[in-house]
Amino acid sequence: MFIHNFKVESPNVKYTQSEIQSVYNYQTTELVHENRNGTYQWIVKPKSIKYEFKTSTHVPKLGVMLVGWGGNNGSALTGAVIANREGISWATKDKIQQANYFGSLTQASAIRVGSFQGEEIYAPFKSLLPMVNPDDIVFGGWDISNMNLADAMARAKVFDIDLQKQLRPYMESMVPLPGIYDPDFIAANQEDRANNVIKGTKKDQVQQIIQDIKAFKEANKVDKVVVLWTANTERYSNLVVGLNDTMDNLLASVDRNEPEISPSTLYAIACVMENVPFINGSPQNTFVPGLIDLAIAKNSLIGGDDFKSGQTKMKSVLVDFLVGAGIKPTSIVSYNHLGNNDGMNLSAPQTFRSKEISKSNVVDDMVNSNAILYEPGEHPDHVVVIKYVPYVGDSKRAMDEYTSEIFMGGKNTIVLHNTCEDSLLAAPIILDLVLLAELSTRIQFKAENEGKFHSFHPVATILSYLTKAPLVPPGTPVVNALSKQRAMLENIMRACVGLAPENNMILEYK
Ligand code: NAD
Repeated sequence: MFIHNFKVESPNVKYTQSEIQSVYNYQTTELVHENRNGTYQWIVKPKSIKYEFKTSTHVPKLGVMLVGWGGNNGSALTGAVIANREGISWATKDKIQQANYFGSLTQASAIRVGSFQGEEIYAPFKSLLPMVNPDDIVFGGWDISNMNLADAMARAKVFDIDLQKQLRPYMESMVPLPGIYDPDFIAANQEDRANNVIKGTKKDQVQQIIQDIKAFKEANKVDKVVVLWTANTERYSNLVVGLNDTMDNLLASVDRNEPEISPSTLYAIACVMENVPFINGSPQNTFVPGLIDLAIAKNSLIGGDDFKSGQTKMKSVLVDFLVGAGIKPTSIVSYNHLGNNDGMNLSAPQTFRSKEISKSNVVDDMVNSNAILYEPGEHPDHVVVIKYVPYVGDSKRAMDEYTSEIFMGGKNTIVLHNTCEDSLLAAPIILDLVLLAELSTRIQFKAENEGKFHSFHPVATILSYLTKAPLVPPGTPVVNALSKQRAMLENIMRACVGLAPENNMILEYK
């Protein structure tokens, strides 16, 4: 059975006019490695820590500014939200298609609430906590190409033509603001597009982005803004002591107009300065150590990196399943070909390298979790190839071969062929990222030994379900397995309304 909303009634939760307050007993374990009677032993001690959460129920009017607004993802997301808001349907050769939010965790997935008379009861994921309705988002942003969003949608060739025709009147007047362009950081083949750029020094460029955010907020009367990078993948920035290793060095480097500070880092600096959440949907290392330092000092949310949309999402499910089943993946080979502008940009070795790095560590946590299968330091062979094939356009092909060792020396090979509209996988992920980033800025919590409520760490690991290479605060474990990432997010949201984590035990029926 499906219910559309619910309210929790419990001594642990209180709904006030402006907040949901909850008390939550976090069941965890403490580990000690001790010498007991002459031998070292691992002792595991269950422990319970009381947490208090408070979530502001004031859902703001949200503005979302996309860097790379006129790209395939930016135009697809903007058009899709308009189509949903306006209730647009369009004719395809198969049927009349209605606008929807399929592929969005917050808008189109469900959570289990419990059992009622022998039946499992589910509710929308978004019913857990008050969230911004995506139909109400105001979009804006920057692009180094001055094409309006209607023409950008046509250039992207993502939507059916009947849908494009209906969306055109809404999107023609949407024109991206000039962006920060540095040809050293993206592929040379993007140069023809760059006709809409901010002039001046790096310091001037940061100031301009700050002005743009302020003006957008004012013009659209939005309460909050979230900025998300969905622009071209940049090459990696070199990490250099004295240049970008600390907050002070990074800011001084901007003042000195140092060439190694990338456009994406400049946008991120502007956002952190303005306390505007900034999310990086591409693989490059926008968040150099000095930027992370700055975000921590300003307590301003940053999250990334690289949308987890297709091949990597499958990988973080499949390898989790294999290793979890006691099967040993020994070789993982992934080929991609795509023909959109992202593919063209990735055909340059230095931008491809960013993608290769971002895709490479995704199985580490799963491999490291099982020393029965893997010796210390042992790792499956893992190769990623990406080729630009213009004809396939946005319809990306991903082919993977997983070879594993099974029982008694046997071998198992699984081959996947995945065809999908790249931007139609990424756009709902962008939506989830901005909605969850906004929500997480409304949550405060404290453990029983802490005096004051505080927000989540500014490095937003809560968004990791949506990213290929989750950015974590220094010294924090990286979790890539998709089911764990989803459980983490859902269970934190459940804790905010005083619900126990989903444990799947269903003891009532055992
Ligand atoms: P796209 O090339 O269609 O769009 C990128 C846009 O960014 C272009 O319009 C370009 O003009 C603009 N741009 C480039 N540099 C800019 C700058 N410095 N400032 C402002 N605008 C700038 O690409 P896309 O398919 O929309 O993908 C966007 C990004 O998302 C890529 O980096 C891609 O690797 C990443 N990504 C996409 C997916 C997916 O499934 N679609 C998954 C993971 C990551």
